[in-house]
Amino acid sequence: MPSASRPKPDPACLAERARGAYLGLAVGDALGATVEFLTPREIQHQFARQGGVHRDIVGAGWLRLKPGQVTDDTHMSLALGEAILACAGRVDALACARAFDAWMRAKPIDIGNTVRRNLVRFRRSGIPEAPPSPHDAGNGAIMRALPVALARLGAPAEEVAAAFCAQAHVTHHNALSDAGGICLTLMLQEALLHGTWKTLKHHARALAQAHAEYAWEDGRRVDNPSGYVAHTLPAVFQAFFAHDSFAAALIDVVNRGGDADTTGAILGALAGAWYGEGGIPAHWRAALDPDVARRCATQAEALLRLAPISAPAGPETARETW
Ligand code: MN
Ligand code: MN
Repeated sequence: MPSASRPKPDPACLAERARGAYLGLAVGDALGATVEFLTPREIQHQFARQGGVHRDIVGAGWLRLKPGQVTDDTHMSLALGEAILACAGRVDALACARAFDAWMRAKPIDIGNTVRRNLVRFRRSGIPEAPPSPHDAGNGAIMRALPVALARLGAPAEEVAAAFCAQAHVTHHNALSDAGGICLTLMLQEALLHGTWKTLKHHARALAQAHAEYAWEDGRRVDNPSGYVAHTLPAVFQAFFAHDSFAAALIDVVNRGGDADTTGAILGALAGAWYGEGGIPAHWRAALDPDVARRCATQAEALLRLAPISAPAGPETARETW
């Protein structure tokens, strides 16, 4: 059974957990991308010689990746993190839109349809916030929740929520995406700080109570999760809460197939925040593209340094914006 508790949180461990979250995101992306858009049955067949389970960072997949290469989930997060760092820790919608647009101009190997549509809209209008749309309930905004969680660590929940939405609405303006993304951002923060297994689970349950689309149960396995937010997050929650290690949870979620690089990236960030860098198998960390691994670790620490939790208290350092 999964552990219901863990050693008492030690502030000195915070940087280790922050790096774990960011490296976990990249590891999950790299592992999941190999089986993105496959069904669980196809994965079992393709990896028959490995016991029917995909568990190594080997690249390939429909994107024909090199081993250790990551996709838009990690690269959009890094672009967002750079924009936040350039704004001294604030999540500024226009800065985010420009960073995403620059990333799209560099011709990324993969890009979501909703992301592309709204970045083209931004190019035409110059307005960073997309209009609300029922078609924006893809997982493309929640997959980049981590830089917001790190930069706004220690801020009040309403501020964290506003910061998540400021970056999310550049590409996805949808109430269901907002609710899932805010929930995930707060869960990431609790996993980094003093949250317990129980408080994390409470968040996931409360989301399902507020939005029936997110309903999930431990026993009713979500297989082949699509890029719809309400397919992605329940699969992530089931896998995360069903295991007591980073590796077991990540292997579980990516072997469900579907949007496996994104379920992998989201679960990797959450589990990395919870288990820390040391909880990620060393052979997976070593398999990552070294430049990506270095950027993830460096950015995690830099964002943390700008977070309210790291800033000295006092009116002169109070921030009135998010
Ligand atoms: Mn991707
Ligand atoms: Mn994906």
